[in-house]
Amino acid sequence: MNKKFVVFTDLDGTLLDYYTYSYEASREGIELLKSHDIPLIFCTSKSYAEVIYFREKTGNNSPFIVENGGAIYLPPEQFEQFNRLKQLERLEHVDGYSALELGASYDRIRQVFKEMKREFKDMLTGFGDMTVEEVSRYLNLEPSLAAMAKVRRHDEPFILKDPSLLERVKQFSQQNGLKVYPGTRFYHLMGNTDKGVAVKELVSLYRTVYAEIIAAAVGEGKNDEPMFRQVDMPYLVKKPDNTFTDVALDRIVKIDGIGPYGFTLAVKALLAEA
Ligand SMILES: [Mg+2]
Repeated sequence: MNKKFVVFTDLDGTLLDYYTYSYEASREGIELLKSHDIPLIFCTSKSYAEVIYFREKTGNNSPFIVENGGAIYLPPEQFEQFNRLKQLERLEHVDGYSALELGASYDRIRQVFKEMKREFKDMLTGFGDMTVEEVSRYLNLEPSLAAMAKVRRHDEPFILKDPSLLERVKQFSQQNGLKVYPGTRFYHLMGNTDKGVAVKELVSLYRTVYAEIIAAAVGEGKNDEPMFRQVDMPYLVKKPDNTFTDVALDRIVKIDGIGPYGFTLAVKALLAEA
């Protein structure tokens, strides 16, 4: 293998089981990538704190993308190699990581969200309105993880009680410089970014270090589509109901496995081509 591969992966419903958040079935794929020295980059709607937790659990030390492309984080032992990033004025330093913030601030998003709630007569409930117990129940997460999920920086996950309002809610967010995107379990209100914007930025950073980068991505949801568009090898795994999300990308490779089972199969397919 004389090219440098990097693999981006969604977490909820892809690397992690949709219902239990277990990575038992994806562990084989994770270990295969480690043994080939291929970085596995989490690219998720999860919050920074949740991603830190799952990086530690899975022994991951790669850069990561949080909150649907809201920010890219580079670990301290790695950002020195990304020379171009050092020149970027927008670089923030968070807990020893170098962060490139691409999304709107949470304060701004909450401000617009509150206006939306008034406009649509409380048909929306966001993470910022919910208690830890409520988030825990909705996400089937233990309370300590639900508390982590609630700490948002660039994206507000929300429930829309009347789905017929979706188009009007999208319009309202656009008029306020934000956008609405469907995630695995929630809609998300966020700035003018997505997983694809962040993946494109990080791939270009890798290209400053390695002459030839081949980027792959594994995902299962509609919010993974922008990520798929930015990589050479996009792999779509199955949803828990054994079907595929509709992805409008001809070169997508469909993997016949649900979530983390599909993840391991996708890694094997990638390595077979590497
Ligand atoms: Mg997902």
